[in-house]
Amino acid sequence: MERPYKKEALITMDSPSVIEDEAGQSNGFSEKKELLVSFLWLFIPASLLLASIFYAFDNQSQRYELQATLIREESALNSASELTSLLFEQKLSDLMVLAEGETLKNYLHDDSMKNWIRVAREFSLFARRKPKYSQIRFIGAKGMEILRINNKAGVQEIVPRSKLQDKSSRYYFAESIKLDEGGIYISPLDLNIEQGVVEQPINPTIRFATPVVDGYGVKQGILIINYAPDELLRRIADIFMTLQGDAVMLNSNGYWLMGVPQQQLWGFMYGSDETFAKQRPDVWAAISSSRKGSFSSQDGIFIFHKAYPLIRANQGTVENIEMDSLSKESGSGDRYWIYLSHISPALIEELTAKRKIVATVTYFLLFVMMGLISIFFAKNSVQKKIAFQRLQQYATTDDLTGLANRRELQKTGAREFMRALRFGRSLSVMMLDLDHFKEVNDSFDHTMGDEVLRHISDICRETIRGQDLLVRYGGEEFVILLPETDIEGTRQLAERICRDVEAWPYESGETKIPITISIGVSELEIGDTDYQEILLRADKALYEAKRQGRNRVILMSGGQLLA
Ligand code: GH3
Ligand code: MG
Ligand code: MG
Repeated sequence: MERPYKKEALITMDSPSVIEDEAGQSNGFSEKKELLVSFLWLFIPASLLLASIFYAFDNQSQRYELQATLIREESALNSASELTSLLFEQKLSDLMVLAEGETLKNYLHDDSMKNWIRVAREFSLFARRKPKYSQIRFIGAKGMEILRINNKAGVQEIVPRSKLQDKSSRYYFAESIKLDEGGIYISPLDLNIEQGVVEQPINPTIRFATPVVDGYGVKQGILIINYAPDELLRRIADIFMTLQGDAVMLNSNGYWLMGVPQQQLWGFMYGSDETFAKQRPDVWAAISSSRKGSFSSQDGIFIFHKAYPLIRANQGTVENIEMDSLSKESGSGDRYWIYLSHISPALIEELTAKRKIVATVTYFLLFVMMGLISIFFAKNSVQKKIAFQRLQQYATTDDLTGLANRRELQKTGAREFMRALRFGRSLSVMMLDLDHFKEVNDSFDHTMGDEVLRHISDICRETIRGQDLLVRYGGEEFVILLPETDIEGTRQLAERICRDVEAWPYESGETKIPITISIGVSELEIGDTDYQEILLRADKALYEAKRQGRNRVILMSGGQLLA
């Protein structure tokens, strides 16, 4: 029959707990738990920090991404606007060259047939070089056409004087004749109308006109050029192709000129009231209030840039152009166009999706890395802790039995002695010595002797209480320090140990070694100045126990040795 000793319960009072004993069993300190706690302490704050930094960074970079897109869109729209101005400048300088030309001046001075033909020839020649100028006309101050060149499909036709028409009631005439010398009129961009219906295929047209004055500075009429801006529209379309968003071109009344299905284009020519302005009053309000900018809504971002055809002329690149007239809004005035790009939420999503994937993967990798780093540091810290505890343990415990050693007794003994004195509590000491142990070593071997020592220390360990300190004092001597215990209680405990040791011989296979133990007991007495004095009395009692024949408990109390 084997006695179920609690090997793992190392009973040493207030002594540091042990990490693992030789059999690998945990002793009050779970390395795994410690590691987990250490890891979490590092990992949770670190990953929270990482997550917040990453979140902020991600937000920021998303904003930058969007901003970069907006800037690209804006710059493309701006180049569309610049291009418009540039092309118009060229047309306007052509207009001015003709209006201020010597031939026309000569005709105004002398309106002979010969001079008329000269002007007609010059204009006709000019039209040949400029196939996009579908008409070049000189209209008199009263609105009657004086000279008209039709320029269609590469053929220049000088319209006979008899077929010239009265244009006094046309809006473009009325608008341009009002201007001073050098003033410029630009008509709305619209579609050419023939016989009262929109010419098919559509023929977008814009008119440039300027007053013509004679050598005396008297206004004699206007020079007007009909221009087919398909080159401009084509190049704008090319720019639109480079935009990320859905781009449209609008006129200043919000009608589409480009970028939507054919049937929605040029709505104003067909009396339609379907406009972008009507469709998106919120965006339109933003557009109306500034030259360029962007508008964000639930439907995404709208970026717009207005093109003022004469903005560069205004800066003086075309000589002699007076801008005053341009600021006056005429009823049908189409003084600017709007280039507008719409970036839908789906597109924004698409733009950011790739970056999001990269960000997520990066974050995940960082997270894993943070985990690994945390594990590394947690392990490191736990190992240090273990090493420290081991060191402490080695310093205070006995290798063979795992019991406290003399050093520990010294420390605890002194502390418990002071405590007992201060609070008037009991403190007892038991000194134990194996009987005839030398014979065990002699009869068996030293290793077996060691096993027996462990066996005895296990029995003692089993018997004492939590607050007691069991110490391997020397070779086969043990000391038990018993705070809060008087001599009677200690004697009872000592007798139990004595009986148990006798009752449970050491057994290993066939081998059975009976052992007895002698115990001396003493307690704190008046006049003691050190726990060593109690120890000394217990030793005397032990000596007496040996003398009286061993396997017994002897007390020393009040100078008396008692059985
Ligand atoms: P008694 O105490 O009953 O008078 O007899 P004893 O034989 O136990 O006394 P003694 O002090 O003469 O002998 C003690 C022996 O204990 C000597 C030594 O061989 C043995 N011993 C001391 N420490 C150890 C140890 O760590 N391992 C083993 N195996 N034996 C030890
Ligand atoms: Mg001895
Ligand atoms: Mg002995």
